[in-house]
Amino acid sequence: MTKPYADKQVWFLTGSQHLYGPETLAQVAEQSQEVAGTLDASDEIPAPVVWKPVLTDAQAIRRAMLEANADDSVLGVIVWMHTFSPAKMWITGLDELRKPLLHLHTQANVELPWQTIDFDFMNLNQAAHGDREFAYIETRLGKARKTVVGHVSDDRVVGEIATWQRAAAGAQAARSMKLCRFGDNMRNVAVTEGDKTEAELRLGVSVNTWGVNELAAAVDAVDEAQVDALVAEYERLYDVAPELRAGGDRHGSLRDAAAIEVGLRSFLEEGGFEAFTTNFEDLGSLTQLPGIAVQRLMADGYGFGAEGDWKTAILVRVANVMGAGLAGGASLMEDYTYDLTPGDERILGAHMLEVAPSLTTSKPRAEVHELGIGGKEDPVRLVFTADAGPAVVVAMSDVRTRFRLTANVVENVDAPDLPKLPVGRAVWRPQPDLPTSAACWMAAGAAHHTVMSTAVGIDAFRDFAAIMGIELVTIDESTTVHGFQNELKWNQVYHHIADGL
Ligand code: MN
Repeated sequence: MTKPYADKQVWFLTGSQHLYGPETLAQVAEQSQEVAGTLDASDEIPAPVVWKPVLTDAQAIRRAMLEANADDSVLGVIVWMHTFSPAKMWITGLDELRKPLLHLHTQANVELPWQTIDFDFMNLNQAAHGDREFAYIETRLGKARKTVVGHVSDDRVVGEIATWQRAAAGAQAARSMKLCRFGDNMRNVAVTEGDKTEAELRLGVSVNTWGVNELAAAVDAVDEAQVDALVAEYERLYDVAPELRAGGDRHGSLRDAAAIEVGLRSFLEEGGFEAFTTNFEDLGSLTQLPGIAVQRLMADGYGFGAEGDWKTAILVRVANVMGAGLAGGASLMEDYTYDLTPGDERILGAHMLEVAPSLTTSKPRAEVHELGIGGKEDPVRLVFTADAGPAVVVAMSDVRTRFRLTANVVENVDAPDLPKLPVGRAVWRPQPDLPTSAACWMAAGAAHHTVMSTAVGIDAFRDFAAIMGIELVTIDESTTVHGFQNELKWNQVYHHIADGL
């Protein structure tokens, strides 16, 4: 099976020292290759795991870390102290390391050979204290890392490493991301604003604006053959409304929508953009608000935010990268309206148009309907309901001195028929319940726009936030309003101190 991040790699570094002599070091090398090889061979591990020669002195460790930093294909490093590797050797190298770090606290063996164990065995298999020595220096240096404990034959261990790899891939995607804003933010909206300069420092994302008529010019440059081909693709993939089909009264709307998709896609490709925003208030000479185009681009891995919301566009892109190769998808979502029936509270989420069809395994319908705002022609959109199943919604807000991620674990549920609601949507129950979820969400100042991910869950976002060094508050089955409010207060103090003067 081809790994989703086949062109990337994660290095497997093993620590030891010269004291043990060549015979033991050869065993360390052999056994650590087995551990790395087991991980690499797992279909669940999304990036190749590349074993590196055993590290036994400070200069080799430093060089390994510098090489990992310099190699753009390296998502991160996994480190294991099979034997005892005096940790002062690791200070300079760890201090230099800028890539995500996973400390794998493992052993070559699962069970102890109780009847035959001798001191040679003890000397070879002493991660129980070799890794503690290493963890001391990680903690002393304040190194952010994920610690995974257990044998690589354990599915839980493999799963935790796989999730961290996905988060590391998301972090790398953020740090190389170019985001194109067509026009500015929706006028007077607060939460979609933010510090774009700080975004480049903290998240690595380059956020810049292009006039929407540059996009319109790219749409005008699309030729009829390209439109024909895309219209044929729409008819193959979707249940296209009769009025939009060839010969139908409104086929022109479908062709206009297809031209917008071709033009938008080419603009993004030529500019090297992985994420973008639009604003219905500023559509220049575009004939429609981009609907189906945006929906399909999100499903293809692009990040998107509506109303100029570049922060959510970043999250959609990161979630798409983290979920590569998994079932489900990532989409812009908006908490829209509630069913407040006591004990059966649900949230109906949607947007004007822009919800990604990667949230459903059903065949979306392509329809055209009036859009009450924006003053343009009726836009074509895909209509569907997100599949039932576990999901997470995550928002990013600029809380003046930092970016805060707020995440809620939710369960998408089957929706009743919604014959009069022609948009992509999801219906979910938030954990632990709607009153607690919404009270916590608003206490955090979290946005009404989110990324909804059905491919990766809360753990990937936890690892991502830890790697990026940004705040994440989570609302899950164990959350209480009182505890959450306290966490926000403590975080406020922590992040002010952690950022320094
Ligand atoms: Mn919106």
